[in-house]
Amino acid sequence: MNGNIRYSIVIPMYNEEAVIEETYRRLKKVMSSTEETYELLFVNDGSRDRSAEIIKRCAEWDDTVKLLDFSRNFGHQIAITAGVDYAVGDAVIIIDADLQDPPELILQMIEKWKEGYEVVYAKRVQRKGETWFKKATASLFYRVLRASTDISIPVDTGDFRLMDRKVSNEMKRITENNRFVRGLVSWVGFRQTAVEYIRDERMAGETKYPLKRMLKLSLDGILSFSYKPLKLAVYSGLAVSGSGFLYLLYVLYMSMFTDATIKGWPSLVSIMLIFNGFMLLILGILGEYVGRIYDESKGRPLYVVREYTGDAASRYKEAQ
Ligand code: UDP
Ligand code: MG
Repeated sequence: MNGNIRYSIVIPMYNEEAVIEETYRRLKKVMSSTEETYELLFVNDGSRDRSAEIIKRCAEWDDTVKLLDFSRNFGHQIAITAGVDYAVGDAVIIIDADLQDPPELILQMIEKWKEGYEVVYAKRVQRKGETWFKKATASLFYRVLRASTDISIPVDTGDFRLMDRKVSNEMKRITENNRFVRGLVSWVGFRQTAVEYIRDERMAGETKYPLKRMLKLSLDGILSFSYKPLKLAVYSGLAVSGSGFLYLLYVLYMSMFTDATIKGWPSLVSIMLIFNGFMLLILGILGEYVGRIYDESKGRPLYVVREYTGDAASRYKEAQ
């Protein structure tokens, strides 16, 4: 019972006043060409600019537009989660607000969906207008992620994807904090396929993912799908004490069978610094896991909504 909405487009936005109107127009054009029913669900993630006002104005005369307004900034991954929670369509499509993900690709995704695939994700074969640093770190991250997790998370894909109703219902049951949504979609399973695209430049405005946030996202990705970082302590501990033992044999030999004395001070200091640093690093990794356990144990809601302009009742009906 979803008021017969076929497609839900979820658009997370954070300070996107420079592009949001154009995004709306492009999406509108693409979606009306399907000649099926749809909703454009904009999630305002605590923008401090006019993004929400602009969308609200659109919603006044266009009833396919809905605004889910957060009480503050909760982050991109949470905004997507909320969008999926509130979306009622038979297929839910997540797309960035900055037009880096071409709306026209949605039509190809829909085609694949109609062929029977339940998740259609967009794979970036090329990225335009991003610094070499971002491209290199992103590429490294996806490969580390692939090497460290057991479930297969496709490389070079973002959150731009289509999910069948069945899949988004399963997504709603996942309540974990520090989410890495694209990993969770892989975890859920179902028949998944890709469409390829060239990622455009951001139309206007600037990236909301500075290095610090990218690091947080990468950590969430790796830590919530793998225990391997914890094993670092075991293997490196073995290696370190193994080589220490060998060195001890060497020192014993030198002092018993030769006259040479081994000078220790500089090497002692550097070895101490290196290994104390290493131990702190491992403690830090442990801390990351413990912190995440702490977040889970608090059981706080993932987000707080100030206002939803759509039909809230339909959401609760859907969730049951
Ligand atoms: N975004 C959000 N909340 C945030 C940061 C970003 O909703 O705290 C949205 C942003 O408006 C955009 C999408 O997430 O629609 C992706 O962000 P951005 O384009 O800045 O990331 P990039 O493409 O540079 O990785
Ligand atoms: Mg972007």
